[in-house]
Amino acid sequence: MRRTLYDEDHEAFRSIARTFLAKEVVPFHDEWESEGQVDRRIWTLAGAQGLLGTDVPEQYGGGGIKDFRYNAVLSEETIAVGASGVGFTLHNDVTAPYLVEFTTDEQKQRWLPGFCSGEIITAIAMTEPGAGSDLQGITTTARRDGDDFVLNGSKTFITNGIHADLVLVVARTDPEAKAAHGLSLIAVERGMPGFERGRNLDKIGMKAQDTAELFFDDVRVPASNLVGELNQGFFHLMSMLPQERLSIAVAAVAGARAVFDRTLSYAKERHAFGRPVGSFQHNRFVLAEMATELEFAETYIEKAMLEHNAGRYTVTDAAMAKWWTTEMQKRVVDRCLQLHGGYGYMREYPIARAYTDTRITTIYGGTTEIMKEIVGRSLGV
Ligand SMILES: Cc1cc2nc3c(=O)[nH]c(=O)nc-3n(C[C@H](O)[C@H](O)[C@H](O)COP(=O)(O)OP(=O)(O)OC[C@H]3O[C@@H](n4cnc5c(N)ncnc54)[C@H](O)[C@@H]3O)c2cc1C
Repeated sequence: MRRTLYDEDHEAFRSIARTFLAKEVVPFHDEWESEGQVDRRIWTLAGAQGLLGTDVPEQYGGGGIKDFRYNAVLSEETIAVGASGVGFTLHNDVTAPYLVEFTTDEQKQRWLPGFCSGEIITAIAMTEPGAGSDLQGITTTARRDGDDFVLNGSKTFITNGIHADLVLVVARTDPEAKAAHGLSLIAVERGMPGFERGRNLDKIGMKAQDTAELFFDDVRVPASNLVGELNQGFFHLMSMLPQERLSIAVAAVAGARAVFDRTLSYAKERHAFGRPVGSFQHNRFVLAEMATELEFAETYIEKAMLEHNAGRYTVTDAAMAKWWTTEMQKRVVDRCLQLHGGYGYMREYPIARAYTDTRITTIYGGTTEIMKEIVGRSLGV
């Protein structure tokens, strides 16, 4: 069915993103995969093209348009070329909302221009070695001492963890408070004494994405780096997680589409028993099923983005979208690899990389099981 989500302004933005990726990212991605991280330079190059902070107010150097469709366009283009190392989505879709919605004017002036130019790369650090799905189990502490918070603890699996200049750290500011209460968001900046990065973690996929451990040992963070309200961190996270999950869902649908389109071409070209492999009835049915699932997913995700833009998108909506689209992507990628036969297992084929790059999507941003818990609870069961 015809897509109606994007207008000519989005398509113009797509064209900028596509040109940028083709010139500055695709030719270097293999090299970055060997190095375990992208060249930092691409961040400022992307900033110069207006690809960072499209929804940040213009006075701070952003695009000034609050429209998630621009985020989606950049994500779709990045995924279509398999640039899994580029952490723009985390920056634009996940950390930007906190820096726009919960910061003071002084903080905005300090951080947002660099955010948009690519000079300040951001990350968000919730997960700890002992607390992932259960954020209420966070043990990193930020104790108030004079004009500072003193931060102690560690985080793991942090996207952009090596490159990040500004990390929104979720820490316990009230040790007496129960469960969700008593957490706050503290912005830790590169170079603060006691803030160390650990390993750039060795993942099965997304080889050029820097995913790191972070350590905080008596880091003195000025109280002026508190983002949002004291002890309200958990509730701030809950209000922004729908956008993070929608972002993952958009990427999952785009990723599945890219893999499917390539596989369809392969299934027409590759012959066995004198016929294209896609023409065997079993494979034709597999392709038909995937084409149908994608059509449904694309239609659904368009509606989800419009609901989000209208401010009506709920935690439950996002949980549904996140688990279903990422599980669909996992199914599609697996079946597409099968259709490639042995070549599908070779990393020189995009499908092999997609297989390992995308396996994480049902886990990060909240696992499928946690998403179903959220949906289930909304049903009163
Ligand atoms: C590449 C990558 C990038 C990441 N980026 C970030 C980042 O930028 N910032 C950040 O803070 N975190 C990040 N994460 C962490 C990610 O969000 C967590 O890994 C995820 O939330 C799961 O937490 P966990 O790994 O501790 O698993 P656990 O919570 O230990 O879960 C283990 C298993 O138990 C299941 N489980 C847990 N609780 C329940 C339950 N109540 N009911 C049913 N099943 C349950 C889970 O679904 C899972 O299958 C990233 C992770 C990876 C791998």
